[in-house]
Amino acid sequence: AKSLGKGRFELYDPGMHELAASRLALENRLRRALHENEFVVHYQPIISLSEGGIVGVEALVRWRKSETELVYPDGFISVAEETGLILFLGMWVLREACSTMVRWHKEFPRTPELTVSINVSALQFAQNDFVQQVSKVLRETGIRPETVSLEITESVSMTNSEHTMTVLARLRALGVRISIDDFGTGYSSLAYLHRFQLDTLKIDRSFVAQLDDSKEGLHVVQSIMDLAQNLGLNVVAEGAENARHVAQLTAMGCEFAQGFYYSRPVEAGALSALLEEQGQQ
Ligand code: C2E
Ligand code: CA
Ligand code: CA
Ligand code: CA
Repeated sequence: AKSLGKGRFELYDPGMHELAASRLALENRLRRALHENEFVVHYQPIISLSEGGIVGVEALVRWRKSETELVYPDGFISVAEETGLILFLGMWVLREACSTMVRWHKEFPRTPELTVSINVSALQFAQNDFVQQVSKVLRETGIRPETVSLEITESVSMTNSEHTMTVLARLRALGVRISIDDFGTGYSSLAYLHRFQLDTLKIDRSFVAQLDDSKEGLHVVQSIMDLAQNLGLNVVAEGAENARHVAQLTAMGCEFAQGFYYSRPVEAGALSALLEEQGQQ
């Protein structure tokens, strides 16, 4: 450590330097990836437990870094958020997912209500022109707004609640739906929940995983479902990985689920094939 005078020291840590350099390299690489169209959207079905069919999909971004490398969000989302690149990436995902859904609505006219859920980062949500940008994408893609669900996390929704309430109201006025993602993992906010104009709570998969090993897990999921019912909200359980999860969720009256038991997130083409299959049943 070198002294900066009276009681102040700066720690020089070569490890930190390398970290900063590699983040900068990643940032530059991500910029190029955006420019060169290396991102792809995968889609994971959301299933109606009572009817058994696909009622929607969640759009999940991946980075096709090279022919052999597919990078998952945990490899780039945090850097994209820190550098602001998520603003461009997020809008790209919104546009891409909406255009794809418009195509599916045409291709599969028997599922006009099929919804597309899109993750919105806190930084996007905080932009002054976020609502305008969403509106522009709706207009340009021609998607029916009520088939779009924007997923925001609990922490986004609960910070600066006046601003949040205004933005949510304006989004609702556009006709889109709002889901709270990873519900139960943020700091709780039950006092405000009824003031937001929400449609859906998504139960975080950590709670569904706990269905395996404890009565407590069951109670947590049941409590979230009771809460949702009292507020008139839909519930989607995430991370349904096996038949037992599905049976338990169904028994508790959960209406929608998403998870590897049904399908992993897949490319648009593979999701088309699933919709095709469903149409033939
Ligand atoms: P998330 O929004 O909670 O998305 C669900 C994640 O759970 C996905 O991971 C999905 O592949 C995974 N998952 C689904 N079913 C199961 C299951 O049964 N078991 C297990 N173990 N996992 C399951 P993925 O695609 O790696 O995405 C991770 C996170 O990255 C997302 O979590 C979301 O927070 C973020 N993300 C993904 N795409 C976007 C995007 O376009 N924009 C933003 N802002 N964030 C995104
Ligand atoms: Ca999500
Ligand atoms: Ca989630
Ligand atoms: Ca999550």
